[in-house]
Order: sequence, then C-alpha cells, then structure tokens
Amino acid sequence: MQGVDLHTHSNISDGTLSPAELVRAASQIGIHTLALTDHDTMDGLILAEQTATECQIQIISGVEISSQWSRPATKKSYGVHIVALNMQNPEPLQDLLTQQKLIRAERARQICDLLIPLIGQDIYQDVIAKVDNEPDRVTRTHIAKTLVEKGCVSRPQQAFDKYIKEGKKAYVKFEGPSLADTIAVIHQSGGYAVLAHPTRYDLSATNIRYLIEIFALAGGDAVELPPAIEPLSTRQMVDRMIAEHQLKVSVGSDFHGDNMPWIKLGNIPRVKEGQVGIWESFV
Ligand code: AMP
Ligand code: MN
Ligand code: MN
Ligand code: MN
Repeated sequence: MQGVDLHTHSNISDGTLSPAELVRAASQIGIHTLALTDHDTMDGLILAEQTATECQIQIISGVEISSQWSRPATKKSYGVHIVALNMQNPEPLQDLLTQQKLIRAERARQICDLLIPLIGQDIYQDVIAKVDNEPDRVTRTHIAKTLVEKGCVSRPQQAFDKYIKEGKKAYVKFEGPSLADTIAVIHQSGGYAVLAHPTRYDLSATNIRYLIEIFALAGGDAVELPPAIEPLSTRQMVDRMIAEHQLKVSVGSDFHGDNMPWIKLGNIPRVKEGQVGIWESFV
C-alpha cells in the first residue's frame, strides 16, 4: 500500500498545485496510485490523466462530495464528506455534481453577503478571482484566504474561527444530498463510497460511531484511516467500527498544497493487520 494516496486536492478546488503539477509531484515521491478528489468537481481529472501518461502513475477518478446525515433523535443534520473513487461510468455522478456546483456558487455569494456587515466590505469579486471567476469552485478556504489578504484576520484558521465555521455569523451550511443518496449515486456510477476523515467533524465519540454505522447500513464501502496525529484511543475506536461493520479501508493524505503546508503528499496512515484496502478492488 506504500505509494498510494487516495485523497488529494488540486487548484481546481482548494489545493494550490494544478492537476498536472500534483501528478508530477506524486510521481517524483514514488506514488504509483493517485486519486484526485477535489470538492464536488471532477473537472481536474482529464488534466491529471494527460500528465499521468508521461509519469507512469495510475490515476483513480475521484471527488469529495459534500453530503449530510442526521440523527433521528435530534433531527439535527451534520455535514459529512464522502470520497467517491474509481467511477467506471461517471454520468450519474456528474448529474449530482452539476447540482452541487449550483449550491456551491450560491453559497459563496451568501457567505460574502453575510460578511458585509461584519467586515464592512464585499469581498465576492476577490474570492471568485481565486478560482478563475468560476463561482462553482469556491470553497471556504478561498474565502478564508481572501479575508487574510484584506487584513480582516491574520491567518486562514482565524477566518474560520471568527466568521465562517459552524455557529459563526457568516456560516452557511452546504445543503448537499443525504448520505444514502450520495452512496447510491456513486454506486450507480460504478464507484466506491469512502467516508472521509471520520474524526474531523467535531463529533463526539458516540456520534462518530453512529456515523460509521449509518454509513455502513447505507451501503458505504470503506472508511478513511485517521492520521497518526489522532489519539490512539480514537484510532482504535475507528478500527473497531471498521471491523464490526466489515468495511474496507482507504488511505489518503488530504493534501492541499501550500494552503495546508503541514499536510504532506503521500503521508498516509498505516494499514492494520486484517484490514482490506479499497484499492485492492480497483480494476
Ligand atoms: P467548503 O467545502 O466550502 O465548506 O470548504 C471546506 C474546506 O475548508 C475543507 O475541505 C477544508 O479544506 C477547509 N476547512 C473546513 N473547516 C475548516 C477549519 N475549521 N479550519 C480550516 N480549514 C477548514
Ligand atoms: Mn479542502
Ligand atoms: Mn474533507
Ligand atoms: Mn479533502
């Protein structure tokens, strides 16, 4: 499994390397199987594949889908990211992504509108300039970077903490499809559904377990192994849930280039004895 990275971003969404630069960088450090998993878009895939032919690297089609789930008891819904991998027939998924892009574009405008009274200016034009004036590619990372450039905050993380994360005044929820619908569409496209970074949603241990359980019941295929920086007890809890529900595992760095310089391309967690990698199912 050395040489595999199944969760990476390019500058088609909130990474900083172009798809071609990403593929070359991956090839140079010995990655042989790479999935480009931009947020709600597969538009970088062709560019990545074009470069892959000169680099002897296998590109797996991928996308990180903004989905949601809810606890029936509280009716509260939570955002969750589902990584779709290895689509054989992307058409059903492309229809869903068309919808996601509309939501993303509308939400970018809404977040900037909510920011106006808080920062005294409209940063929308500067935000979309970061994504070649294509509003359907805007992520909160771009908004955070723009807030830093405008001097409203000193670091991107501060932009999240002060304005755009859940609970803050300029937070706008991403009204994506349900977990079950997302998984169903991925399967219609012949792909695999992976629960992305299960420990990164600010959920209690109980809710992480519940999320993995409903993901499995909805037909999900694999869970991303948490990075080594997570507490051992948390990683073991995820391992137990993976085993209990007979899920496969996926490995990815969630590389974002210089937008998150502490995340290194190809830096993936170790697979435990008995765990089955989703990459073994790729054709
Ligand atoms: P979006 O899909 O527009 O909600 O943007 C999500 C992206 O913003 C994630 O993939 C991360 O790259 C980044 N992000 C989300 N939450 C945070 C946070 N609390 N701090 C820093 N970056 C974050
Ligand atoms: Mn991101
Ligand atoms: Mn994510
Ligand atoms: Mn990601």
